[in-house]
Amino acid sequence: MGESDAETLFERIIAREIPAEIVHETEGTLAFRDINPQAATHVLVVPKKRYRNVAELAAADPELLAEVIGAAAKVAELEGITQSGYRVVFNTELDAGQSVFHVHAHVLGGEQLGLSFGRAG
Ligand code: AMP
Repeated sequence: MGESDAETLFERIIAREIPAEIVHETEGTLAFRDINPQAATHVLVVPKKRYRNVAELAAADPELLAEVIGAAAKVAELEGITQSGYRVVFNTELDAGQSVFHVHAHVLGGEQLGLSFGRAG
């Protein structure tokens, strides 16, 4: 996926131009299931306003970042994984595997997660 394509993908989901399984919405955020789930629960939370990554979001609009994290916690509640546990991940730039340059929180859980968040292989 080219970066210019990626830049429009989540905006098109937010605009309801392409389908997604939406699980939660706030004034500033939308949460929908990842199309290629990496755990029993795998939901993406995106701010409706686009920033490239979480650092840019934090610098420009800390209240919106807090809304994203609050929405992630609400998604966990809706998915019934608040007590069992979950992981919130912001992949940032290429070494971390960021492929869509519209900041998004991955909410992962619903089963025991691996600890392979370091070096590949
Ligand atoms: P990242 O690699 O951190 O940028 O995450 C991008 C995520 O978006 C990946 O986990 C993809 O599976 C997911 N994704 C790509 N296209 C879609 C789509 N149309 N609907 C839902 N999730 C998608």
